[in-house]
Amino acid sequence: MTSPNPKPDAFPLAIIGDGYAAAVLLIHLAKHGFDLNQVVVIGKGQLGLGAAYGTEHPDFRLNVRDDLMIIDDDNPEDFVHWASQLDDPNAEDPEGGGKFYQRRDFARYVRHMLAKHDIETFITHIKARANRIARGHNGNWIISLDHGQKVTARAAVLATGNPTPNADHLICENAPADRIHRTPWDGKSIATIAPDDHVLLVGGGLTALDACLAFYHAKHKGKLTLVTPRGLLPPRQRDWTKDSIPDFPEPLTASQFVRHMRQHLPIAPPDTSVWQSAFEGLRAVLPDAWSRLSPFCRKRLITRLGWLWSLLRYRAAPQAMAAIQDMINCNQMEIISDRVISIGKGAPLTVALAQHGSVACDIAYLASGPGHDTLIQTMINDGIALSPFGKDTQNRFGVAVGDDYALLGADGNTAQTLWAIGPPTIACLGDVVGVSSIARQAASLAQQLCPTMTREKAKS
Ligand SMILES: Cc1cc2nc3c(=O)[nH]c(=O)nc-3n(C[C@H](O)[C@H](O)[C@H](O)COP(=O)(O)OP(=O)(O)OC[C@H]3O[C@@H](n4cnc5c(N)ncnc54)[C@H](O)[C@@H]3O)c2cc1C
Repeated sequence: MTSPNPKPDAFPLAIIGDGYAAAVLLIHLAKHGFDLNQVVVIGKGQLGLGAAYGTEHPDFRLNVRDDLMIIDDDNPEDFVHWASQLDDPNAEDPEGGGKFYQRRDFARYVRHMLAKHDIETFITHIKARANRIARGHNGNWIISLDHGQKVTARAAVLATGNPTPNADHLICENAPADRIHRTPWDGKSIATIAPDDHVLLVGGGLTALDACLAFYHAKHKGKLTLVTPRGLLPPRQRDWTKDSIPDFPEPLTASQFVRHMRQHLPIAPPDTSVWQSAFEGLRAVLPDAWSRLSPFCRKRLITRLGWLWSLLRYRAAPQAMAAIQDMINCNQMEIISDRVISIGKGAPLTVALAQHGSVACDIAYLASGPGHDTLIQTMINDGIALSPFGKDTQNRFGVAVGDDYALLGADGNTAQTLWAIGPPTIACLGDVVGVSSIARQAASLAQQLCPTMTREKAKS
């Protein structure tokens, strides 16, 4: 690696987003000896933290055991070794599911890796949000930032992650804003809730479960009502080992995809080791199968079975499930199978449900999942990116990319100098949400970028 140099007018590489995917890409670029003076990172946060690891809440734990938090396949045990120095007796699942550390500790590990490669000395980090990307002359990318500045880059990587939750459409004008908790991912607002308040949690995914564990440890006395469309919570993580599962058949349709899943999943509850071992075996052969499905079949599967996939795929840390079970057993917590349709003024809040009338409560805690990525929407509208399922669908499915992570433009051709990694690629590349699968994408993109950038440097 070279020493910090004056920064170029047009950066050879811009990374849009400053979370985990950006950090792990930089770590892999550094490993390949990439000149990091050439890189600008755009994002308002601290590099590496993002939505998942930007929390300081001690009850917000990883939902994956320690040996699966792999950022480099050449050194798969690294996090396990690093984490062994932590003093966190509650990390261990007493039922043998493994160690589930605090997310803020994983953030420290990522920051340690960034420091090890001295990455922040070399890169330029612009603390802003990108709100448009346009093609300039010479094929450069002109990235407009929310504070008015423009950044020019010869190549760019979209690493914008999961869009921030947004359930504003549920909130009536007269609703008391201070009783509605809208930013669940950092967990900061939980400490401001009075111990006797009746809290209604909107959503039953891992974000809601994080909050439940926090309430439990805070010895919250008030009632907790959790409203989720099918009344089901994610299964608890068990001690699984990946089964060896044959590849999906060829050619592949949506119904054959489902049949293959059914055929290889045992008749056992999803919160058992045997079921989870088979499911993880299927996940290992899924990326190849997913890329072989037509966009029509992918869309059919996501729209019809996406909810079930999310439920089974995002399994809960054992600590959260044990706390919830305890609170249900002592009638402090109830789960309502329904959909929240509005939140308005009441006593002090009234939450209207689609089927079960309304619930009066003190606090609404919104944990209803990721919102929409406005940058991606603008890129699709401008023809810079293609929606994976056609123009008429919403941007929550990310962008269309090829197997090499290069974005497809409105004309269906691959942009040679614009890539995406992480959650924005899931519609095309399958289940790319967890730490290790994003790290694999980052490693592979870094390998691609190194020769490209060397050629670019020689040209300039
Ligand atoms: C609450 C939560 C918990 C999770 N827990 C786990 C776990 O335990 N284990 C696991 O393997 N995975 C977990 N995940 C999955 C998670 O998707 C990945 O682990 C990883 O954090 C995703 O990294 P990312 O960089 O793509 O997104 P992020 O880390 O969220 O980073 C994206 C960053 O880009 C910024 N950004 C977005 N748009 C723009 C823009 N237009 N301009 C500039 N900046 C922008 C965002 O503000 C954010 O800081 C969790 C996800 C969430 C949301």
